[in-house]
Amino acid sequence: MAFDYAPAPESRSLVDLRSSYGLFIDGAFVDGSGPSFKSVSPATEEVLAEVTEANATDVDRAVKAARRAYTRTWSKMPGAERAKYLYRIARILQERARELAVLESLDNGKPIRESRDVDVPLVAAHFFYYAGWADKLEYAQPQGRRGGRPPQPLGVAGQVIPWNFPLLMLAWKIAPALACGNTVVLKPAETTSLTALLFAEICQQADLPPGVVNIVTGAGETGRAIVAHPDVDKVAFTGSTEVGKAIARTVAGTDKLVTLELGGKAANIVFDDAPVDQAVEGIVNGIFFNQGHVCCAGSRLLVQESVYDEVLARLKRRMSTLRVGDPLDKNTDVGAINSSEQLAKIRELSEVGESEGAERWSPPCELPDRGFWFAPTIFTGVTQAHRIAREEIFGPVLSVLTFRTPAEAVEKANNTPFGLSAGVWTDKGSRILWMANQLRAGVVWANTFNRFDPTSPFGGYKESGYGREGGRHGLEAYLAHD
Ligand code: NAP
Ligand code: MG
Repeated sequence: MAFDYAPAPESRSLVDLRSSYGLFIDGAFVDGSGPSFKSVSPATEEVLAEVTEANATDVDRAVKAARRAYTRTWSKMPGAERAKYLYRIARILQERARELAVLESLDNGKPIRESRDVDVPLVAAHFFYYAGWADKLEYAQPQGRRGGRPPQPLGVAGQVIPWNFPLLMLAWKIAPALACGNTVVLKPAETTSLTALLFAEICQQADLPPGVVNIVTGAGETGRAIVAHPDVDKVAFTGSTEVGKAIARTVAGTDKLVTLELGGKAANIVFDDAPVDQAVEGIVNGIFFNQGHVCCAGSRLLVQESVYDEVLARLKRRMSTLRVGDPLDKNTDVGAINSSEQLAKIRELSEVGESEGAERWSPPCELPDRGFWFAPTIFTGVTQAHRIAREEIFGPVLSVLTFRTPAEAVEKANNTPFGLSAGVWTDKGSRILWMANQLRAGVVWANTFNRFDPTSPFGGYKESGYGREGGRHGLEAYLAHD
């Protein structure tokens, strides 16, 4: 390299962390009845704060508060009034954007460049977007007003989210639920509770009526208690396919409505007429964005055989420029792996890749001594039978396969139990449309990847789940259908 970058750390002092946090129930922070656990910074293993583990009694308290708020205030309020609160929250999110971005990067390990430029702006955008819908719900459903009545909310929504986009997943869940007149009990993931608790403070700052949003922290058991609670009308879950299946079993036979946003193993397909440098940027963004902790990550690269050598050479060159390290440094491209458990999973599957005969490559890169780190990695010589081509690794690991014809690309891309997303890189518009029709994926990106917008629906086929979040479609999951 001709020059190196000086460190450019974002200031930690923007965040005012408390040493311990209670649960946010009925508009106030309260003590839970269970024990507490520690939230650590994955980049340093430093303990950031103690967080409460909510048990079934705490969850019941939260659901009761949500029910009261639903019946007494929120569902009765005109949509235009609900919108004012959502707009207010959106503006506060923008005002406190830097603070939120720093806390997200501290607690999750993602680079500040991403939390600042992607996560937090999208969070605010979701609240602005759904605020706009709150007084227009009669235009959200094709059938419009029924019997002169605007569409009705469902009641109390129980929402459980993962650790990879803590605030963004919270926004995807809470903004449409509130816009439609529902109240919520939300559980953030165990390793990333802190920005959800800061969001609770923002609800207080916005004077949101008590009980409309309740945040209960905890682990799997807390999530289970929410899903199983008899007074929860709707369950919204984002996470692994395994837990998604367990949730579907729990709610089977009840009148709860469910949406599940689960895992993925997306194909990112590069044709020989693609602009190669642009495609290489898209491949890198597809798999190394957020350390590859992305359900729709382009974790299977399918390259047309005739350009394989060129694409691989340029990809390796580009990967050699990726800067791995301190998430709070503004020059960092790839941050820390979210937890030691996730790191162990990535290591294990990568070892399986090697033992099954694929060839492993990483650019030379120095990893910090403390914290959880994994170098950007690609596997070549991967076949469809390999586990690294079939299972979600959820880390910065790319499996590279090849194809000769468009039909073979489609066949290989669809040969997966998942169906969340796909990418197509080609110069031909007709081929993009043809491919998009053939690919069994909820989202198909053309000459781009990992692009999100609140107006655009997102969700899966097959084992990637059911239901859509985002856009007008995202309202459907929070409105009554009878
Ligand atoms: P996970 O283990 O399924 O956890 C997701 C959430 O569910 C966490 O809050 C977790 O709590 C909680 N949970 C665990 N067991 C539960 C149970 N039996 N009942 C109710 N809740 C339970 O998934 P993860 O490892 O955090 O996240 C990674 C997975 O999420 C990947 O497979 C990824 O593809 C998927 N994901 C999908 C999308 C999408 O939109 N489709 C988006 C992001 C991630 P604890 O964390 O406290 O254990
Ligand atoms: Mg953490």
